[in-house]
Amino acid sequence: MADYDYDLFVIGAGSGGTRASRVAAAHGARVAVAEEYRVGGTCVIRGCVPKKLLVYGAHFAEDLADAKRFGWQVPDQCEFSWPTLRDNVMEEVDRINAAYTTTLESHGVEIIHSRVTITGPNQVTLADGTVKTAERILIAVGAHPAVPDCPGAEHGITSNEAFHLEAIPKRVLIAGAGYIANEFAGIFHQLGAHVIIMNRTQDILRGYDLSIRDRLLQISLMKGLEFRFDAAFQGIEKNNDGCLTVSMANHEPVTVDMVIFATGRVPNTGSLGLDAAGVELDAKGAVVVDEDNRSTCPSIYAIGDVTNRVQLTPIAIREGQAFADTIYGNKPTRVDYTNIPSAVFSHPPLAGVGLTESEAKQTLGSIRVYSSDFRPMKNVLANRNERALYKMICDGETGRIVGLHMIGPDVPEILQAAAIAVKAGLTKDQFDETVALHPTMAEELVLMR
Ligand code: NDP
Repeated sequence: MADYDYDLFVIGAGSGGTRASRVAAAHGARVAVAEEYRVGGTCVIRGCVPKKLLVYGAHFAEDLADAKRFGWQVPDQCEFSWPTLRDNVMEEVDRINAAYTTTLESHGVEIIHSRVTITGPNQVTLADGTVKTAERILIAVGAHPAVPDCPGAEHGITSNEAFHLEAIPKRVLIAGAGYIANEFAGIFHQLGAHVIIMNRTQDILRGYDLSIRDRLLQISLMKGLEFRFDAAFQGIEKNNDGCLTVSMANHEPVTVDMVIFATGRVPNTGSLGLDAAGVELDAKGAVVVDEDNRSTCPSIYAIGDVTNRVQLTPIAIREGQAFADTIYGNKPTRVDYTNIPSAVFSHPPLAGVGLTESEAKQTLGSIRVYSSDFRPMKNVLANRNERALYKMICDGETGRIVGLHMIGPDVPEILQAAAIAVKAGLTKDQFDETVALHPTMAEELVLMR
């Protein structure tokens, strides 16, 4: 057998790469992981973690307004310090970054702080020209935000920069209407900005159940967010006063203080040197892999967003675990991609698992749909006219729940537990046999009509 520097060389220390490195090392492999930026990757450094903390911070705007109805004396104008929230969030990011680094080190994984390129099936080259060899290479380099190719695109920012702003702008335009757009729309709106979302189609959050996304749209409009649909991006012009005028198809131009692009994420394969090893990419630049995460080069594997299968952190982690257990742990494992729960941390949040109503109609002979459309009691006392909606889709023949979709306070927390039952193939009758836990919002799950 050839004498390699390592058994495994992982490129990218994000969620997937870190899990694969740590588990492979625990199984006894000699592992190095290269990271050009910070250990933790998108989720920890500029994604899920800081975003969720901003969502918590932003939500105080509504909580403080509602508090009066619950007897608290709250000034009409509460003061908010963006630098305090921003810096505290970044401190927490630093803490998790350090914890990830410690975990890798304590498992004996060598961390190489460098950009690397693949220069052969078993070889990588670091930025300083050093060559390293490994029996296997794992690509876990993630993805980056797509920026439209239009005049003035350089005046816009992406979610990467949104965490580090000097101040909250007065007017924000967000291009795209997916996860990032709706989450940041909620954050900026709560923090006092006027938000406009524009999208190339007539949809928000394509892929989620229509009734749920329609409810988010209605609530967002009620809160004062603006939407521009069928609005293909045409360009940004920077005015003398620093404001940005955005032109788009089918609508008048709008002038704002900040433009955020949230139009999907592109696999980071651009300058990895994958040609040198015969690694095939798909039309979107994602690494093509088989069910065991192996690329078209037998010694090179890929996991996470760079493969563009399901761009979610827990999936990258599972793929990293499955890869390491299969190759180094003598425990062949494949990720099950069915019934993956997901959530959007909008204001209010929404969450779903399984088939949407329209998907169920297309794939099953007959379906039954149950729902509960209610105003959470906290919203009633707060005079907040915001209704929650839970929707359950069942196979008409068997009664098995094939989809569960929710919008309302805390639904991501509620759905995680309910998703276990959906994954286990339970029926509506089995839900109904469970006594309601009163008074909660989650009790609607066992009371749906
Ligand atoms: P999404 O895929 O969620 O949304 C992209 C949006 O941009 C859609 O509205 C889409 O329009 C539009 N769009 C796509 N391509 C173009 C284009 N070429 N020109 C103009 N508009 C375009 O991507 P995000 O950037 O919001 O997020 C990236 C990924 O990150 C998500 O898919 C998700 O997997 C992950 N993520 C997950 C989160 C979570 O789990 N809570 C949070 C944040 C991100 P249309 O669909 O109408 O065609």
